[in-house]
Amino acid sequence: MTEKYAVVVVGGGAAGLSAALVLGRARQRTLVVDAGEPRNAPAAHMQGFLTRDGMPPAELLAVGREEIARYGVELVRDRVVEVERGEYAAVEPGKDATVEPGEDAAVERGEDFTVVLAGGRTVRARRLVVATGLKDELPAVPGLAGRFGRDVLHCPFCHGWEVRDQPFGVLGTSPKSVHQALMVSQWSKDVRFFLHTVAEEELSDEDLRRLAAAGVDVVPGEVTGLLVEDDRLTGVRLADGTTHARSVLFVAPHAVPRTGLLERLGAELHETPFGAYPVVDPTGLTTVPGVWAAGNAIGFAEQVVHAASGGYRAASAIVGDLLMTDLDAAAGL
Ligand SMILES: Cc1cc2nc3c(=O)[nH]c(=O)nc-3n(C[C@H](O)[C@H](O)[C@H](O)COP(=O)(O)OP(=O)(O)OC[C@H]3O[C@@H](n4cnc5c(N)ncnc54)[C@H](O)[C@@H]3O)c2cc1C
Repeated sequence: MTEKYAVVVVGGGAAGLSAALVLGRARQRTLVVDAGEPRNAPAAHMQGFLTRDGMPPAELLAVGREEIARYGVELVRDRVVEVERGEYAAVEPGKDATVEPGEDAAVERGEDFTVVLAGGRTVRARRLVVATGLKDELPAVPGLAGRFGRDVLHCPFCHGWEVRDQPFGVLGTSPKSVHQALMVSQWSKDVRFFLHTVAEEELSDEDLRRLAAAGVDVVPGEVTGLLVEDDRLTGVRLADGTTHARSVLFVAPHAVPRTGLLERLGAELHETPFGAYPVVDPTGLTTVPGVWAAGNAIGFAEQVVHAASGGYRAASAIVGDLLMTDLDAAAGL
């Protein structure tokens, strides 16, 4: 018989674990399925999460996994490969949420979901939390990807303090990179904006005036390689052979939202400058009844503290939704 859960959480990063903690404490039978590839895995430290500032990302997740286990939440290392909607049996309050459709159920209504795992297991759930994060695709400069999260960085709020006042480079990959070059000038007054794949004509007069006001040097030419000594970035090389001493390079990864499962469920997406993300209400409810999303699955800019908060919001909404569904069924409403 297919195992049934009140909620399956897809993804066990900050968003998924936070949702699971709240669901477990609300006595919902919950399964977290986590493929184990959190976005910030390349970074040694996680910054900006009050009381956890500087904690290694893996440690945060290990503590989170311990916390959810206290409340009977199950976690498996696996990948959800398919999700399908079906009918479910709402149960009477106080009864086991694992009742079969039609079997000892007060009323059958609403949705349920069949969740297929890569490892071959299939489970059912009354509600879903999609907390699958996103994938960063890095510019194709040789050696760059291997340094991501160390001295090739994307987020000054995550790493800016640690590299403050050092010589920064910013790799231009679109006119939006101007914003990054301006932002990082808050952390160092020695910033060179390498235009790389951005044509000079793509920069507006306002861009150039703001860059000048921030003291950012604009350097035309493609970056073809990184200079590294003793496993530390020391500079960049341009196509014309010139080199620039830099100890930090900011880049803008191309964010690839992990929306495949949501799209297959029919969730509506909306375009953002960082890709298409699900349309959600303030609790993270998508346009598919019964399916919530949280963390980087709903937007590029969700930091760890936002992801944890989004997981909490989704979970508390789900607890209310399940309870009211069952009460309405029992009350014949
Ligand atoms: C280099 C770097 C450094 C960063 N530093 C900071 C920082 O200092 N402070 C900060 O606040 N933020 C930082 N961030 C941002 C941070 O990584 C995200 O805010 C955070 O990871 C979002 O949490 P999440 O739970 O939404 O997603 P994730 O942490 O990415 O977790 C998603 C999980 O879902 C799993 N998953 C995906 N698809 C499936 C599936 N189909 N089935 C099962 N599991 C699946 C993934 O394997 C992963 O384990 C950094 C990001 C990067 C890239």
